[in-house]
Parts: sequence; structure tokens; C-alpha cells
Amino acid sequence: MADALILGGGLAGSAAACLIARGGGDVNLLERETGPHHKVCGEFLSVEAVAHLRQLGVEPLDLGAVPIHRMRLVWENREVEAALPFAALGLSRHVLDETLISQAVANGARVERGVRVTGLDGHVARTNVGEREGRQVLIATGKLPIRGEKAPARIANGHVGFKMHYRLAPSAARQLAETIVLALLDDGYAGLQLVENGRANLCLVLRAQAFARLGGDWQGVRACLDGTSQLQRILADAEPLFARPLAIANLGYGPPPRGHATDIAGAMFLGDRWAMTPSLTGDGMAIALRSGLLAAGCVLAGESAGTYHRLLAAETRRQIARATILQNGFEAPAFRHAAYWLARLYPALLTHAARATRLPDWSGP
Ligand SMILES: Cc1cc2nc3c(=O)[nH]c(=O)nc-3n(C[C@H](O)[C@H](O)[C@H](O)COP(=O)(O)OP(=O)(O)OC[C@H]3O[C@@H](n4cnc5c(N)ncnc54)[C@H](O)[C@@H]3O)c2cc1C
Repeated sequence: MADALILGGGLAGSAAACLIARGGGDVNLLERETGPHHKVCGEFLSVEAVAHLRQLGVEPLDLGAVPIHRMRLVWENREVEAALPFAALGLSRHVLDETLISQAVANGARVERGVRVTGLDGHVARTNVGEREGRQVLIATGKLPIRGEKAPARIANGHVGFKMHYRLAPSAARQLAETIVLALLDDGYAGLQLVENGRANLCLVLRAQAFARLGGDWQGVRACLDGTSQLQRILADAEPLFARPLAIANLGYGPPPRGHATDIAGAMFLGDRWAMTPSLTGDGMAIALRSGLLAAGCVLAGESAGTYHRLLAAETRRQIARATILQNGFEAPAFRHAAYWLARLYPALLTHAARATRLPDWSGP
């Protein structure tokens, strides 16, 4: 029996595995994917996420991450730009997640790839290759519940997410240098930024009804983006790098559901499996990493899952509440209009909003 059995090798699970193994614990991490893979994500690494990666021994700049210093808010044919209050980075999840899971192996964690957890019974996980057991179970399967957990409720008019990588024309890449473009759409938003190797990542979040209004397919979504002159200009001669976009539906943004932590008594819930902060503010990866750091600290100190969940709630409550207000607000036309014109008059408001939606400073486990 391992000291820690970690289900899921995304950022949260791999971060926890790195630190528990580094602290001398026996870790068994199970990941269903056999190798590097893409994930729906804006790929905007906030300052806190970058700091946590460095604590884990991963330097994103060595992996080709590109700096992002400015935010450009665009709405139809209007735009306003402001400095970010911190240096952010753009790096694909294809590179990042693989590097972190390899770091867990390098730190001494036992990582099994291609292993899908199909159910959990107390300390025992059922998988496609047999049973695995851990004194402490950490559930880090992202948005996906595993059997044994309460099924998530179907969300009425929930969000749908898309991601597509592009190779941009040189002049378009120059327009995007060091900048994240945030385009406000009806019932959603799109983010566009550069990642490693000269790629650009377009990530969109839309309400399900808005997606249906656009015809329920990628062509409709892509055509709608041409209504935003900034995106139309940058993407005009762009070459799509995936045969079709990655998509995900029924996104359950918001604070953790009540009673979540007692679904499976004694298990620790990490990252998105614990709570999904609205993605507009680009701090989900930081929360995933922080949950991994906190969980590792609690496992090594022999603290209970209850203590861990209380600490994590205290760290993330304010960020999730503010991100929720901002993302929901931008979906409402009156708020969107008012916010755009205020930002136009006082661009420093954008800088302030970016600062106000960060996690508190990390003072250790
Ligand atoms: C549209 C969108 C845009 C976003 N943009 C940003 C952004 O720009 N910046 C930011 O910081 N955050 C962003 N986020 C949030 C961020 O992507 C997540 O918060 C982060 O990926 C959570 O990490 P995780 O480790 O909890 O989950 P994941 O990264 O989803 O990892 C879970 C892992 O578990 C594995 N797994 C799942 N089920 C099983 C199973 N049954 N058995 C074994 N393994 C399993 C999966 O293969 C996966 O590797 C965005 C999210 C969305 C939806």
C-alpha cells in the first residue's frame, strides 16, 4: 500500500506527487493518458502558477514559454490596452503537463500511465489493470468525476470551451507579441495569446445557448469571431494546427459544491476536481498547483482531508468569488458596456482587476 495514491496526473496530481516523493513519501500516481496530450486551456500562466512551478523545479522559460506583459480588452471593433501588474507566461499544456509528470518520476514517484481509474472504494481504486491502494487517496482527475463520487448535476445553459492552435502570419504574430487579447462576446469570451514555438492559442468559452445560436458547430463559432475586428485581423491568414478544435462541455464553474469532501470519506480533492474557478482570470492552473502543494504538505504532516479542504478553501475562496463576478458580469450586456467604457477612460482599472483576481501570496504548507 502506497502512502499516497494519486488519481490523475495533471498539474494538481503531479505537483502533489513531486512534493510527497521529495519529502520521502511512497507515492503511486495513476494517469489514464499514455503520453503528452492537449487540453482545453487558455495556457496563460499567471505569476503564482509560475512561482509554484519554480518551487517544483520546473522553469517554464527553459521550455520555451513566452512572456506576456499586456492585456488588450476588445469588444466588437473597439479595444483598450493596459499593463498586467505581473509578468505572465504562455506555454502549452502539451509541454507543461508532460514536464511536470516527468518531474514527479524524477523525484521518485511511481507513475503508471495508461491506467484509468474506474471506481473507488475507500482506500482502494479499481482500474483497467487491477486494484491500487493508498493510505491517503488524492483525487485529481480534473473536471471528470470517477465512479463512487456523486455524479455532477447537468448545468442548465452551462459553458462550453474550445481550443485551437494556429501558426500566425509574421505581422499578426508581431501584433500579438507579449499580449493577451481578451475579446468580449455575447455570453462568453475568447482569449488569444502566443505559446512556445511561435504557436498562438485561441481559447473560447461560451454559454451553451450562445453556441446553439451560432449553429452548434465550430464554423459558426469561428465566423462569430470575425465580428471582433482585432481577432479577425490577427487570425485572417492563420493556419489551424489541429484537424478540429478541442472542446469540452458542461463546465461547472464556481465554488466547490457543498458536501463534496464527504462524497468519498477521507479522500482529498485537488485542482478542478475540488473547484473550477472561472477561466477568464487565468488562475485555474495556479489553484491546481497550490492544491497539490497543500495536499502534499498535509499528507507529509499526517493531517486529515478535512484540514486540507479547510486550508484550500481559505486560500482560494476570494479568488473564485471575484473571478465569478467578473466572468458572469462580462456576459451581461449592460455590465460589458459599462466595464468597457470605464476601462477606456481608466485603463488602470484593467490592471487593478488583474491584481484583484490573484491567489493570496503563498506562505508555505
Ligand atoms: C476553457 C478553459 C480555459 C482555461 N484557461 C486557463 C488559463 O488560461 N490559465 C489557467 O491558469 N487556467 C486555465 N483554465 C483552468 C485550468 O485548465 C485547470 O484549472 C487545470 O487544468 C486544472 O488542473 P487539474 O490537474 O486539476 O486537472 P487536469 O489538468 O484536467 O488533469 C486531470 C488529469 O487526470 C486524468 N484523469 C482523468 N480521469 C482519470 C481517470 N479516471 N483515471 C486516471 N486518470 C484520469 C486526466 O487525463 C488528466 O491528465 C482553463 C480552463 C478552461 C475550461
